Amino acid sequence: MVKEYFRPESLDEALELLAAPGALALAGGTWSLAFEARDKPERVVDIGRAVPRTIETRGASDGRGAELCLGAGATFQEIVDSKSTPPAIRAAATSMANRNTRNRATVGGNLGANKSCSSLAPILLALGASVEYKERSKASVTIALADWLAAPGGLVLTVIVPRADGLRASSLRASRTACDIATSTAACAFRLEGGKVAGLRIAIGGFGPRASLRPDVAALFEGKPLPTKADIEKTVAPLLQARADQRGSVEYKRLRGAALVADALHAAEEQI
Ligand SMILES: Cc1cc2nc3c(=O)[nH]c(=O)nc-3n(C[C@H](O)[C@H](O)[C@H](O)COP(=O)(O)OP(=O)(O)OC[C@H]3O[C@@H](n4cnc5c(N)ncnc54)[C@H](O)[C@@H]3O)c2cc1C
Repeated sequence: MVKEYFRPESLDEALELLAAPGALALAGGTWSLAFEARDKPERVVDIGRAVPRTIETRGASDGRGAELCLGAGATFQEIVDSKSTPPAIRAAATSMANRNTRNRATVGGNLGANKSCSSLAPILLALGASVEYKERSKASVTIALADWLAAPGGLVLTVIVPRADGLRASSLRASRTACDIATSTAACAFRLEGGKVAGLRIAIGGFGPRASLRPDVAALFEGKPLPTKADIEKTVAPLLQARADQRGSVEYKRLRGAALVADALHAAEEQI
């Protein structure tokens, strides 16, 4: 049960309060305070005033070298509504079907929860995002999102997504019904150079403890014209290792995941 609640004004104060054993950083609370079965922390530190919330494009006015900066405190609905949001990230945010949850759930909370079927992680990984985060008594550091997700630390401040002309991207989720938990997620980003796939990154969720980049899957298609969906499914399915649970059997998840990757590759559109 929550016994202590703090709402610090500054990041350093928040990190100091979080140093106490068992303290939890509270953003939207849609993961950490939801679900009766989950143990609730005794001390919560509401970081709403301590982390940035803005969504903006920074960099050259001609768009070259520009980057999208998502404040960790930005909600899913703010991502959906922002004019700065590229279509594939908007699609990922919208895939959280419940608007009440989108109004509370934040970027930082989504990465902090680090769920296998996270809505945002796959597309952010595919787009080559990095994360600025800060630990107590240390300067803030920027590292690849994949590295932060593998060893989360401190508080995420900003997610930085490089923007580049001609990059095609998409983000999809598979679930049995729109509001159901996803069985898999897939996102990709690449260019078409002379009709061939170039610089492909694919990230997949639902096939391990967290969503992750899959260079082994991307290598199947790099430097070649995009195959048909049926051929993509055939080559990707053997690379997906699933665990059977209430969402589906191993075979169902493998085939559904491979079909999702095929759909994502064919749905990729230029990000304006
Ligand atoms: C009805 C419902 C539907 C949902 N649907 C989806 C869905 O479609 N897709 C999906 O991905 N998730 C879904 N979730 C799970 C949850 O809503 C998301 O993971 C959400 O993004 C969590 O964000 P939050 O701001 O609420 O995080 P919180 O619950 O406040 O925190 C989650 C975790 O992240 C940590 N954290 C928070 N902010 C930071 C930060 N800045 N830096 C480091 N760590 C931090 C917290 O300490 C905690 O461990 C759903 C939940 C509910 C209740």
